Amino acid sequence: MEPLLFYSTNLQAEKVTFREALLKGIAPDRGLFMPEEIPVFTQDEISAFSKKKYYEIAYEVARKFLRGQIPDADLIAITKDAYDYAVPLEKVYERKYVMRLDQGPTASFKDFAARMMGRLMQYYLKQEKRELLILTATSGDTGSAIANAFYGLDNIKCVVLFPEKEVTDRQRKQMTTLGKNVQILGLDAKFDDCQFLVKKAFADSDLDYLNLSSANSINIGRIIPQIIYYFYAYARLCHKPGEKIIFSVPSGNFGDMIGGMFAWRMGLPVEKFVIACNENDEFPVLLQTGKYHKIVPSRNCLSSAMNVGHPSNLARLVALYDGVMDETGVISKAPDMARMRKDIFAFSISDEETKEMIARAYKDHKLLLEPHGSVGWFGLEKYLLSDNAHINSDQVCVSLETAHPAKFPQQIQEILKIDPALPHSLLGLEEKEESYDVIKNDYQAFKDYLVRNYK
Ligand SMILES: *Cc1c(COP(=O)(O)O)cnc(C)c1O
Repeated sequence: MEPLLFYSTNLQAEKVTFREALLKGIAPDRGLFMPEEIPVFTQDEISAFSKKKYYEIAYEVARKFLRGQIPDADLIAITKDAYDYAVPLEKVYERKYVMRLDQGPTASFKDFAARMMGRLMQYYLKQEKRELLILTATSGDTGSAIANAFYGLDNIKCVVLFPEKEVTDRQRKQMTTLGKNVQILGLDAKFDDCQFLVKKAFADSDLDYLNLSSANSINIGRIIPQIIYYFYAYARLCHKPGEKIIFSVPSGNFGDMIGGMFAWRMGLPVEKFVIACNENDEFPVLLQTGKYHKIVPSRNCLSSAMNVGHPSNLARLVALYDGVMDETGVISKAPDMARMRKDIFAFSISDEETKEMIARAYKDHKLLLEPHGSVGWFGLEKYLLSDNAHINSDQVCVSLETAHPAKFPQQIQEILKIDPALPHSLLGLEEKEESYDVIKNDYQAFKDYLVRNYK
């Protein structure tokens, strides 16, 4: 079969195969890679998912995009190795559920994407007998998900920069207790400074020989794995022919929700997507007014992983609705706003509401939410109460919980006066030995470090 090709949302770059899109990350014209065509499942194929395990559904989804470029036996080995943990669907009331995407190694939904992306990269690199050095800057959670996902893989080394004074002890320990092919670098600086050094290294041709690559949320290799859990939730919860589902997704850079929108275009019977944002409301405003204004600087909210004033995956959503948005947020061709409004309900949730919902969900339903999941659950409630929803009690709704409550002990303690139990993956972290290097916040120092340690 002809391979599926990936175009750039900026429309100025050549189309590439999945392998190239995965290893490059960003298109040469600075756009995001998108599949030229979205593969579809028949309703019979989707029904058959109800009998499959998570990793088997993962295999079916990936296979549609890969069209045989990775042999089936290798692909299923990849998904089986990536997804060796549970995906709980917790019933809250009637047929309203919370999907807990927090059972991976760092108790964050980012594990889902990072683990599969790492294994796909490893597959291609081994074949080509090539090595890659992943550079990534983190404000806490992304770095630990990447470090854990790439830990122990062959042909890939990984350097994570983090602002020493801006991450929690637990966030730091999730990265610094690994070792092997994962090197952690602390800077006495801000996250933006770490990001700056990484970007500068990518642009430095002296370092070309290191085969640098990023693992950030715009890589198409992180989007495809985020399609899978939407199919999984539907397969586990919906059994009537043609039954439709509603999802609510707490959103920041929109990688998670783009996965859901892809699932819908692939044939998943969806009634509505609720996009729940914190006080960074640029998308709810865009949906309402058709006008886009980035929020600079982004607003600091409790759901810190969603403090995004210009979602890096928004250009993909615009492309799905036949528009064109460049990486700076300029729209040169308007998307089909009428259709977008029909499909999506977007809402901005304040910090006050986020706290209120953590308290209320626990009181009313014994539902334990952390700030991100609280934004999602509140968004769902807002939608169900909105004028045009007309939802009956039989409607299946799933709100995504993107991190484990134990990752936010202070907030939970303050609001609920309880200490959430640590998930299995975070137990024993306190006792593990840490190791990381510290460098000056200076590009030359960073470059020297890379040259000295990687050749
Ligand atoms: C990254 C993150 C999000 C936001 O996901 P996007 O794909 O960027 O929209 C939400 N919750 C948590 C806990 C996260 O780490």
